Amino acid sequence: MRPSTSVYLKTGMKPLLRRRDRTLNNSQHGSEMWDAIVCGAGAAGLVSAGRAGERGLRILILEKTDIAGSKIRISGNGRCNLSNAAPLHDFIEAFGQNGHFLYSVFHRFFRDELLGLLGRLGVRAKTEPDGRIFPRSDNAADVANALMRYATQGGCEIRYHEPAQDIVLKGSSGHREICGVRTPRGLYRASAVIMATGGRSYSSLGTTGDGYEILRRSGHTITPLHPALAAFVSDAPRCRALEGLSLPDVILSLRGDGGRDLFSERGEIIFTSSGISGPAALNLSRHAAGRIETMRRPELVLDLIPGVSAEEVERRIDEGCGRSPRRHLVNYLKEFLPSRLAVDILSARGGPDAAKKLGTLSCAERRTLTRRLKAHLFPCRGIRGFSHAMTTRGGVPQEEIDPRTMESRLVAGLYITGELLDMDGPTGGYNLQAAFSTGWLAGDSIPA
Ligand SMILES: Cc1cc2nc3c(=O)[nH]c(=O)nc-3n(C[C@H](O)[C@H](O)[C@H](O)COP(=O)(O)OP(=O)(O)OC[C@H]3O[C@@H](n4cnc5c(N)ncnc54)[C@H](O)[C@@H]3O)c2cc1C
Repeated sequence: MRPSTSVYLKTGMKPLLRRRDRTLNNSQHGSEMWDAIVCGAGAAGLVSAGRAGERGLRILILEKTDIAGSKIRISGNGRCNLSNAAPLHDFIEAFGQNGHFLYSVFHRFFRDELLGLLGRLGVRAKTEPDGRIFPRSDNAADVANALMRYATQGGCEIRYHEPAQDIVLKGSSGHREICGVRTPRGLYRASAVIMATGGRSYSSLGTTGDGYEILRRSGHTITPLHPALAAFVSDAPRCRALEGLSLPDVILSLRGDGGRDLFSERGEIIFTSSGISGPAALNLSRHAAGRIETMRRPELVLDLIPGVSAEEVERRIDEGCGRSPRRHLVNYLKEFLPSRLAVDILSARGGPDAAKKLGTLSCAERRTLTRRLKAHLFPCRGIRGFSHAMTTRGGVPQEEIDPRTMESRLVAGLYITGELLDMDGPTGGYNLQAAFSTGWLAGDSIPA
């Protein structure tokens, strides 16, 4: 049962509070005692509040901005890629080593449970051929609004423009308990707190990483934070000439100082005025995060004909040369590459010249061409920062969280969810599913 205010003041907490009694009383924002305060009305926060509300608990959400679910609303280019049809094992593997934590979480609330919940809230979903799951309406706002209804239907209150600044604890370092959450307006009191303030990515939406600092102050470790799912930046002016060009199936690799390809991703890329983006680039950035900064001359390498060996590419070029010796090289390349890319490949130093006829290509030139098609190079300056990243790599390590409940192992009554955790997935609906699932589990676990 939720203790009343008087019970709260009569219990053993009073002596602990005495030193700050006056401050607390003057700044307490209302005398209400909530069953739990959820910090952040994003993906994890709304679902956790909804689940706790369903269980009859009195929940207050403190939201820093003036809108709930802002990232859900812009996610998936406004369509909200809310989950993925990948089998459980593959889904978890996609998060890398840290994903193993999710076995317990998904055992309780995974894709079917999410789709069931959204269905009850009036949002039907569809699965695209590549496995990505979206609302049938293709409208991300439908998901955000439905989760808002879920969060508030149990009577949960949301206060906007109310940034959490600190978790107020009582007790000694051996046994600390939650007292409430401090905001610029004062102290909100509760016996449990769910941290759902998101990461540092896309900071223009209010996610400036406050939660990490708050959790650090409450004794948690924060592993180094890096922008992830962010585009690569290249100084090559060639990118500008290729801007807007999308290549649906390439292998993109990050080449390190020793000339070795360190990580690769296959899929779509899109050239931007400042570099390379698109799903394969975003996914590659997860591996580059935290390492690329220390490389002296990283390069991006494009295999433009994935799945075909260099020998086979060379054989096909030889065949083309034999078949149409009078054909201009650039026109031959345009048969299987977009024009702008064909021109770019042939503009690199060391030939062969675009105006050459196929029949005049030397063996060395044919080999150079093969090399370019299998490993087309772009210098790389790094990845875009937090302001453009879709997620954060790093956060609260899993050893500090109980995966059966999302409760902190360091502070009783404190639950940590979503992007705050040291766990990030690729594009494709993985990150939202993880936020929804960890949020639901926290909301299900706070004591009644
Ligand atoms: C452009 C973009 C597109 C994306 N598309 C997809 C997609 O299609 N599929 C997918 O799976 N993932 C996608 N993601 C990632 C996904 O949105 C996040 O992984 C997910 O929203 C994280 O959920 P969260 O609840 O942890 O944080 P958030 O959803 O970011 O919510 C955090 C909330 O906390 C609030 N807040 C911050 N600080 C405080 C504070 N001090 N006090 C109170 N409130 C605070 C914020 O204002 C926000 O409302 C996308 C991300 C971006 C940036």
